[in-house]
Amino acid sequence: MAAQAAVVAAAPWRGVPVYCPFCHNEQSRVIDSRVVDAGTAIRRRRECTNCSGRFTTVEKAVLLVVKRNGITEPFSRDKLIRGVRRACQGRHVPDDALKRLAQEVEETVRSHGSSQVNANDIGLAILEPLRHLDEVAYLRFASVYKSFESADDFESEIRLMKRRDRADS
Ligand SMILES: [Zn+2]
Repeated sequence: MAAQAAVVAAAPWRGVPVYCPFCHNEQSRVIDSRVVDAGTAIRRRRECTNCSGRFTTVEKAVLLVVKRNGITEPFSRDKLIRGVRRACQGRHVPDDALKRLAQEVEETVRSHGSSQVNANDIGLAILEPLRHLDEVAYLRFASVYKSFESADDFESEIRLMKRRDRADS
């Protein structure tokens, strides 16, 4: 029964062989599957039908980020965290909070149901949870993301932020 479920789950990937890392045989048997990383990936334990070597594969739907210059790259939660951490410099924002924010942002952009997302949309998805986390970090991040040019831009962003704070409470 479990094997049957694994075959069904693997169906969209059929036609793309998983090579045995020991003998490069294309056929392997799935002996265990489990959902990992908050449901965004499936880890499979496999056994090669040729050499009986056992190995593990992780299947995760690729999310491509289209950067402003048109170049695409795979979405990276670590890279997102690095970007937000820069805005949090000198602030008391624990790493755990950054990890949760990154996971929330990834879930938000993945929930759009597209395999491609604009870097801009990721920035947008970061703003709201970051505002709840730390207002100074939010303003720093917004100033880069929205390309602030003057103190006036900060002023109007602060007004906007306070309006949203009031709406939250
Ligand atoms: Zn093998």
